[in-house]
Amino acid sequence: MTTFRTATQLCEHGYVAPERRQAIEKVATRYAVALPESLAGLIDGNDPDDPIARQFVPDVAELDHRPEELVDPIGDDAHSPVEGIVHRYPDRVLLKLTHICAVYCRFCFRREMVGPGRAAGLSPRALTAALDYIHSRPEIWEVILTGGDPLILSPRRLRAVMKDLAAIDHVKIVRIHTRMPVAEPNQVTADLVRALKIKGKATYVAVHVNHPRELTADARAACARLADAGIPLLSQTVLLAGVNDAPDVMGELMRALVECRIKPYYLHHGDLAPGTSHLRTDIATGQELMRGLRGRVSGLCQPTYVLDIPGGHGKSPIGPNYVTRWESDETLAVVEDFNGVRHRYPVR
Ligand code: SF4
Repeated sequence: MTTFRTATQLCEHGYVAPERRQAIEKVATRYAVALPESLAGLIDGNDPDDPIARQFVPDVAELDHRPEELVDPIGDDAHSPVEGIVHRYPDRVLLKLTHICAVYCRFCFRREMVGPGRAAGLSPRALTAALDYIHSRPEIWEVILTGGDPLILSPRRLRAVMKDLAAIDHVKIVRIHTRMPVAEPNQVTADLVRALKIKGKATYVAVHVNHPRELTADARAACARLADAGIPLLSQTVLLAGVNDAPDVMGELMRALVECRIKPYYLHHGDLAPGTSHLRTDIATGQELMRGLRGRVSGLCQPTYVLDIPGGHGKSPIGPNYVTRWESDETLAVVEDFNGVRHRYPVR
């Protein structure tokens, strides 16, 4: 499978106009580019605002850095006690095995850390130190493999890491965040799926999907291989301007996920990653989309809309809120239904 990695390749295959090649080269020097041919094939060349192209084809707007944007927008570094570990919440850690991905998303919140120009991943010695850290903290109940994309690693390497985690008694859950079922579905082989299952622990896979068109027949088959193996699937979606910020697209995406046995988990507000302002929406747009989902599509299709607070302060759900206090009577609350109609309800 071919992956386009340069402005020249993107030009040759018609994904970048020739007159923009030089500018896109500048972007590619700054931020990693990889677009697998199968994903590129989903792009509608007649649509200048194609939602797949917006996510994966570099744009000159990425060179527009805003003062509020941050190199480390969710504050990983502030909570990294040893290389490869982020320990932000008491009962769970991130374990970042690799900085490489099959596709580089133009909005990536770790865009300053991922890509071939950066460190390739944890050395064996660093991995041992990271595992020792997990071992020494009995409060760590869940380990989240992230990156980069952990599923870019070979089944052999993944199996070894999973075995190491299996040997730590207090770790009960291993959650894997990945874009592979969408980016390179055929790489989610039966062997790789087997490598993710470990005795005595629960493995969850959180699949990153932002537009219903990403759930091709091959992507659905990859998700089915995971689900058929008994691995519960969750989704994470990033709210992106011109990609999924319309109610019909968001509703279709959430339904498609549930049809693939993926429970919608998080809808992330766009992080303040450098050069991504053209892809961010405002919070009110996200709240309106969430209101659009509530009551109109099944309860199974409802993600939690969250924002990562810059500085490493963690995720907060950002609404919308359906309960307020009745202004003139402290004993009453006001609850809004999915049609926007307000109802009184006793506070206790
Ligand atoms: S797959 Fe994840 S880590 Fe990799 S570029 Fe996309 S958002 Fe970033």
